[in-house]
Amino acid sequence: MPPIKKYLLTPGPTQVPPEVLLEMARPLIHHRTPEFSAELDKARERLKPLFGTAQEVLVLSSSGTGAMEAAVCNLLAPREEAIFVNGGKFGERWGKMLGAHGMTAHEVKVEWGRAVDPEQVEQALERHPRARAVFVQASETSTTAVHPVEQLAEVTRGRDVLLIVDGITSVGVFEQKMDEWGLDALVSGSQKALMLPPGLGLIALSERAWERARSLKTPRYYFDLNRELRAQRDEHTTAYTPAVTLVRGLNKSLELIHGETLEAVFARHRLMAEAVREGARALGLKLFAPDSPAPGVTGILAPGGIDAAKVVRMMRDNLGVGVQAGQDHMRTKLIRIGHMGYVAPFEMLVALSALEMALRQHGYDFSAGAGVAAVQRRLAAGA
Ligand SMILES: *Cc1c(COP(=O)(O)O)cnc(C)c1O
Repeated sequence: MPPIKKYLLTPGPTQVPPEVLLEMARPLIHHRTPEFSAELDKARERLKPLFGTAQEVLVLSSSGTGAMEAAVCNLLAPREEAIFVNGGKFGERWGKMLGAHGMTAHEVKVEWGRAVDPEQVEQALERHPRARAVFVQASETSTTAVHPVEQLAEVTRGRDVLLIVDGITSVGVFEQKMDEWGLDALVSGSQKALMLPPGLGLIALSERAWERARSLKTPRYYFDLNRELRAQRDEHTTAYTPAVTLVRGLNKSLELIHGETLEAVFARHRLMAEAVREGARALGLKLFAPDSPAPGVTGILAPGGIDAAKVVRMMRDNLGVGVQAGQDHMRTKLIRIGHMGYVAPFEMLVALSALEMALRQHGYDFSAGAGVAAVQRRLAAGA
């Protein structure tokens, strides 16, 4: 029998609040109407504090990868050089995308589970003085590690090099100060911390990135950010038919986020991450990214001899608790618990309890309830 109730604790897609689901169930409106313009304007304004920017945040109809591609093809021309930080699947994606668009991509390889050392990026820029941009993840969801984008901006800010950041699991999870730090592009998507289904890509550019976008003469059509800026800022609509329903849902979810206050949202994510980490440690388990763990997703190494993919399958299929195994060579070694967006701290008890039960079924020996007790202790101590 499949579980009657399912908990979605994956690193995206994530749970959607009932208020948002109801908002999206309302009858469709046309997108060339004052009603839709008001929705779009409001959503774009409400996104700015999450990005830490006074710049325009553009709403695209695509998954997060579409917004990543928009950054690539609006900020670099084919044959131009760029550096990309490859510390996991999403870093690797930057590299593949740059290659697909004919750019010369120089890789800064980072061991999975680790943060990039800003010095590595500085050295890469010295080796490749023609590089015009650095591409990185603020939070590398595949390895559950965060990269120090604020320090990377110190390296790029004084040079003619753009810093382009994939913030898909950092925007709305922890503070992003795009303007203050000097990030040149910050990209996000709807289905992680923004508590929505997949389907929206988001992107903001710095002043100097907009200059670059304006001066480039390369072919772009659907993801032409200059065209999209004119539409969204000046005409209060999108260049092409938007995901109307998701934009309305976005407004509702941003209303919930600002109602809770951003500060409290960040504190809640920190609390959940710390609770899960302490729960894992209490079970004698090791974290995959102990030095720079992400606040939105926690990676726990399966104990020796136990297949992480099987543990994850049992948690999902038998217990109804959806978490995710690692990717590629980490598929049988890593268990990733997502705690992003519409997730309550109390749900970390569900996650750890299910993890304990599945591990025990797979022969791991520990004191039953030790992980759950550690989560309780951390939750009781408060944010
Ligand atoms: C989920 C995710 C993406 C990919 O987004 P899609 O919406 O699947 O295209 C990119 N980068 C990071 C860091 C992510 O977590």
